[in-house]
Amino acid sequence: MATVSTSSSDTDHDLDVLQPAEPFSSNSLSLALAMAEEANKNNPTDSRKHAPDDLQRYACMPDPPGRQEKDNEKHCIPNDVYLYHTPKTVVILDLYPKSKIHLLILPRPQAYPKLKKEDFLNLPTLLNKNKRIAKQVMEDLNEEAIKVKAQVEEEMMKRFKFKWGIWIGFHGNPSMPHIHLHVISADLVSPKMSNKKHYNTFSPKIGIFIKLKTVLEWFEAVPSFWHDRLRELCDKNYYKDLQKEDLQCFYEDCRRQFRTMPALREHLQLEFTNMSRRERERIARAKEFERRRAAREAKRKTPDSRDGSQEDGGEGSQTKKTKTNGGEEVESQLTLV
Ligand SMILES: [Zn+2]
Ligand SMILES: [Zn+2]
Repeated sequence: MATVSTSSSDTDHDLDVLQPAEPFSSNSLSLALAMAEEANKNNPTDSRKHAPDDLQRYACMPDPPGRQEKDNEKHCIPNDVYLYHTPKTVVILDLYPKSKIHLLILPRPQAYPKLKKEDFLNLPTLLNKNKRIAKQVMEDLNEEAIKVKAQVEEEMMKRFKFKWGIWIGFHGNPSMPHIHLHVISADLVSPKMSNKKHYNTFSPKIGIFIKLKTVLEWFEAVPSFWHDRLRELCDKNYYKDLQKEDLQCFYEDCRRQFRTMPALREHLQLEFTNMSRRERERIARAKEFERRRAAREAKRKTPDSRDGSQEDGGEGSQTKKTKTNGGEEVESQLTLV
């Protein structure tokens, strides 16, 4: 009975999760993150650097922009940065991640014949160009972002055993040319989070980080709003002031203020550890509830069985262990992967 119609191909697919569909043109998120962590470990002084025009270069590479031309670095995206590309987008890891998981989606100018690469310089240059095409670019980015978000959630479960928020959005006046959509886990815990400017550009309460959802809503807004908002976006001073705001924990139920970045960084790590513990306890409780329900159901069906109570004791103690060690386990996984 064990050999039920198992075709020979089925057995070879254990690695499917890690194997990209097109072997030379995509990287799994787990693999790329592991490579990036390794590269960061070997380069603690931050010698891995983007050239100022790298994002633009990646987005404008001819098909495919992947890693197959190893001998010619100018024509490929580094392996620890590249994730995958589609005809309309290139998906990469942020070289300076500001959270546990931080990716960028770049629109590829080649997909929009009516636009030049200069039109993709930043959000205002694109939105000022042609509203209809700009909307198309945003919708294409949104379509890809939905897929990327699912991958990030899968990675969260794999690494941390729970899911948390994901922010998807832009900066109106980014430091590097070429529009890039950030897909970033909502924790802001990263060794690369080193100053006030970094933190405030991503903290949801400051307003520098513009959600993609908000940009998509602008297309439906009245024209005067459209122009006012774009003018504001183009104004560099508007951002400079916001970046100087006091440091404040972004968690809704906390809002504690901090004088220095190291103090805030330590606090954010604690917030994350607490959140992981709470979430993992919740998941464990739900599983336990489900297990008991199933056990009760099984007992009802076979009223003669007397083994149920013994099993209860064994698994109960295991749940307790998860509760006390929740935070530490998350941390050890972080360093192991
Ligand atoms: Zn940015
Ligand atoms: Zn807090």
